[in-house]
Amino acid sequence: MANVVDSIAKVETFIISIPREVPYLGPLKPGEAINARGYLVRKGNRTIYPSTDMTLLIKVTGESGKVGWGECYGIVAPEATRAIVDDVLGPVIVGRDPGDVAVIHEDLYDLMRVRGFFGGFYVDALAGLDIALWDLFGKGLGVPVSTLLGGRRHATIPAYVSGLPRATLSERVEFAVEWVGKGFAGVKFAAVVSDEGIVAEMAALREALGPKVDIMVDLHWKFEAAEAIRLIRKLEPYDLYFAEAPCAPEDLEGQLRVAQGIGVPLALGEELRTVFEYRQRIERRAMSIVQPEMGHTGITEFAGIGRMAQAAHMRVIPHASISVGLFMAASLQVASTLRDVPYHEYQHSIFDRNLEFTGTDMSCAAGNYLVPTGVGIGAEPKDEVFAFVR
Ligand code: MG
Repeated sequence: MANVVDSIAKVETFIISIPREVPYLGPLKPGEAINARGYLVRKGNRTIYPSTDMTLLIKVTGESGKVGWGECYGIVAPEATRAIVDDVLGPVIVGRDPGDVAVIHEDLYDLMRVRGFFGGFYVDALAGLDIALWDLFGKGLGVPVSTLLGGRRHATIPAYVSGLPRATLSERVEFAVEWVGKGFAGVKFAAVVSDEGIVAEMAALREALGPKVDIMVDLHWKFEAAEAIRLIRKLEPYDLYFAEAPCAPEDLEGQLRVAQGIGVPLALGEELRTVFEYRQRIERRAMSIVQPEMGHTGITEFAGIGRMAQAAHMRVIPHASISVGLFMAASLQVASTLRDVPYHEYQHSIFDRNLEFTGTDMSCAAGNYLVPTGVGIGAEPKDEVFAFVR
């Protein structure tokens, strides 16, 4: 059968590493240091982060000469993800039609599943390639990805300010007040850096921001279920909007116990990649808000997760990670097609700065994202970003 949209001719990958002045999650704390590879381990959540904004871009060129761009999670060991694209996924899809993107996604997922690769770096690589194929598909037909998915419901999506990267509680409160002053209606603080106490931080934020602002907390997988329930109940009198990621990601039973034991919505899912990982949590109602991360899911899985959540009457509040803007654009494309998206996460310290490397009309101002209107994902890397190829 002849291809309908285009024919995939070439797949290329680029690791990008953009220096930043203040590391993600704020200044270094005592005992934290940047190692020889540029990483640091946060003591609060025992998690490794890059000291730069690191990401992996994927370029797919069609026989037509049109180019699709994708991006996936590349914040640690991006060489591993790149090798999967260069050595395994890219060569397999040469000659195929980007209009078959969802079928290609299934075929590539199948390549390694019997060996146990249905998550991690393998699916991250698949996610980035999937975004590039949807982009090429949209460009081939001259329409945005949201049209390919069935239509755009939202031209804008409310953004909540994620993380208050300042050293002390009073500085973080002041920072939150500043953002609310710019028109943002939601703010999330990170319990992992609430050194003055998590309840104290919630109380101080509520007092400073007044009753109308939505305040969320990210618990960074730190707690056993009963501890989490006790803590979240203490936050409820301050009208917590949602509690995120209280228990270890493997602890599905703990997530269920917390979801059923608290009086506010539980949000989770940023670390999950596929409909299979989400399905068991959605079926058992382990949360009431799902937080798919485009850099892990790609467009095909994100759309599947979003529809599944919608069918279960759950809300979708997508996660936003380190990106030069491409997977953010893809995330907004899919989110714009879903019914119930009260917010999309906004990583101000990453999004605003890295947007200068992206050709797009996507923006975030006065509390709202503008969903990009261009064809495909509606965003392309500018030449300047390739000055930061690692
Ligand atoms: Mg989080």
